[in-house]
Amino acid sequence: MSFQIKNFEEYQDAYKRSVDNPEQFWGEIADNFFWKRKWNNVLNWNFTEPNIKWFDGGKLNITENCLDRHIYKNGDTPAIIWEPNDPSEAHRILTYKQLLAKVEQFANVLKNNNVKKGDRVCIYLPMVPELVIAVLACARIGAIHSVVFGGFSAQSIADRINDAECKLVITSDGGFRGTKVLELKSIVDDALMQCQSVEKVIVLTRTRTPISMIKGRDVWWEDEIKKVETQGNPACPAEEMDSEDTLFILYTSGSTGKPKGVVHTTAGYMVYTGYTFANTFQYKPGEVYFCTADIGWITGHSYIVYGPLSQGATSLMFEGIPTFPDAGRYWDIVDKYKVNIIYTAPTAIRSLMAFGDSYVDNKDLSSLRVLGSVGEPINEEAWNWYNEKIGKGKCPIADTWWQTENGGHLITPIAGVTPQVPGYAMLPLPGVQPCLMDENGNEIEGNDVSGNLCIKFPWPGMLRTTWGDHERCRQTYFATYKDMYFTGDGCYRSPEGYYRITGRVDDVLNVSGHRIGTAEVENAINMHADVVESAIVGYPHPVKGQGIYAYVIANHHIDAEKTRQDILQTVTRLIGAIAKPDIIQFVTDLPKTRSGKIMRRILRKVAEGELSSLGDTSTLQDPTVVEAIIEGSKEFK
Ligand code: ATP
Ligand code: MG
Repeated sequence: MSFQIKNFEEYQDAYKRSVDNPEQFWGEIADNFFWKRKWNNVLNWNFTEPNIKWFDGGKLNITENCLDRHIYKNGDTPAIIWEPNDPSEAHRILTYKQLLAKVEQFANVLKNNNVKKGDRVCIYLPMVPELVIAVLACARIGAIHSVVFGGFSAQSIADRINDAECKLVITSDGGFRGTKVLELKSIVDDALMQCQSVEKVIVLTRTRTPISMIKGRDVWWEDEIKKVETQGNPACPAEEMDSEDTLFILYTSGSTGKPKGVVHTTAGYMVYTGYTFANTFQYKPGEVYFCTADIGWITGHSYIVYGPLSQGATSLMFEGIPTFPDAGRYWDIVDKYKVNIIYTAPTAIRSLMAFGDSYVDNKDLSSLRVLGSVGEPINEEAWNWYNEKIGKGKCPIADTWWQTENGGHLITPIAGVTPQVPGYAMLPLPGVQPCLMDENGNEIEGNDVSGNLCIKFPWPGMLRTTWGDHERCRQTYFATYKDMYFTGDGCYRSPEGYYRITGRVDDVLNVSGHRIGTAEVENAINMHADVVESAIVGYPHPVKGQGIYAYVIANHHIDAEKTRQDILQTVTRLIGAIAKPDIIQFVTDLPKTRSGKIMRRILRKVAEGELSSLGDTSTLQDPTVVEAIIEGSKEFK
């Protein structure tokens, strides 16, 4: 990993080189990968259309970089360690050699089922090693994968299959999640009633849930593997891909609206995920790295599969949930496999924190060296708990800010190399040129300023388009500010030049002329000892323009009126009277996406009283939460 930055001076030097001469900078990094043919140009771009090409003219296959090239020296190194949902079931380890063999075998299964380069394949599987195998097998033959999180409904799957016109679906009879069995195949059957494009379904055995197999359409994974075995030659040479050939489509979480089919291409994505994985986490050969995300999210694509494997790392994947059999499960896993790096989300940290320290205190976490966070701003209380209880005050925390559209980390501390401050994503990685923009389209210079976060210059991992709708891509990301990629997030740059994400721009409130970030107010409310979690939205207010509406999950035993007063005091003390919520509604749960993010747009509608236009709710974890919140809101009307 010759491109690993080792200290702050090296970071500053790399950053400067990446801005002064981006093409030379990324060209040198790309030289660390395996190419069948080298590129002609490192970068061609304009943000107007937009049209972005990295390493144009290059030929490669990402699976040769993730698998084949490690075989000679590190073939027996574990590539994937798999921890099952039920801790009493045996775990599995696939070395690089074994993983390559399985990927080639399944790539041949895909070929036997008439999948060709450029075809779209929908993967709807639980978190089992076959999910990684299926993803890489697609990449091996140049098919485009579209992974759909194994918790989504039939309607969400159908929408995604139809949008991408997938030809084949890979699923399993069922999936284990905690005490539940998800009936994946039966959900796929429901989805496919609405899908014309699907010709075949490959079904993996996992739960032995009774299912129906449709003649001519559905085949068993295991039977197909046997066919390949009897065919003799198990090898499957890697398809030669152009740098800009599409690698996959992945739909965003839908926190802000209808999910977008983000398109990532081969070479830039590979280089960027490899570079950021090695740097952000400072991975050292031999270490065990555990990312708790599902592969159905970009975090799983980039930081369970492609980033770690391209760097020859050992990537631990977990089938279950953090609270089964109890709230100590992550820490049991850390202890069992002597995990060195853990990468998780604030929503998980907060929920585990609420169970109390007894689930942590009796675990041996001494192997941990680096902690990561992703998905939303991490509030200070959660950051401190993570730091003290999990990291024992000795593990750097990488609060990685990035998006599905970005492919990999954009702004984050580099663990132990660049400085960290709780709640701050800190400094851009080399190659990333952030800027803050005002409402009039002007860049806000200097420090101690807030604005809309944009990126001025392309980085290799960025999206190229939204599937089937390039205009939507242009409109969403490149039309708000001229020649800029607009992130949709608000951001503060501190006097030291450190970046702090303050929430979605749509969520920044304007209260009596003051701009107030939702994250800031939530952070203050969450400081209250009896508060588990909170969400802030604005609503029309006759005097202030916008009023602040707080939805708060509090401990059960509280006296509501007293806690209300205490929360108001806490906010006044931490931010100022201007940020005091006008309404505090206690709730038992918040509407969250399947990736655990609060859907503020729904809360906003409830606060505004616009109940008839809640928008796309297909990616909600639990739709009944919304009904309860609407019911509770009547008190304030
Ligand atoms: P959609 O785009 O469909 O509304 P989404 O934005 O939730 O869905 P993702 O790409 O999964 O989909 O999430 C990216 C967003 O998550 C960022 O724009 C940001 O708001 C938030 N985010 C992610 N990581 C961090 C972080 N470390 N700090 C602050 N915010 C973060
Ligand atoms: Mg988004």
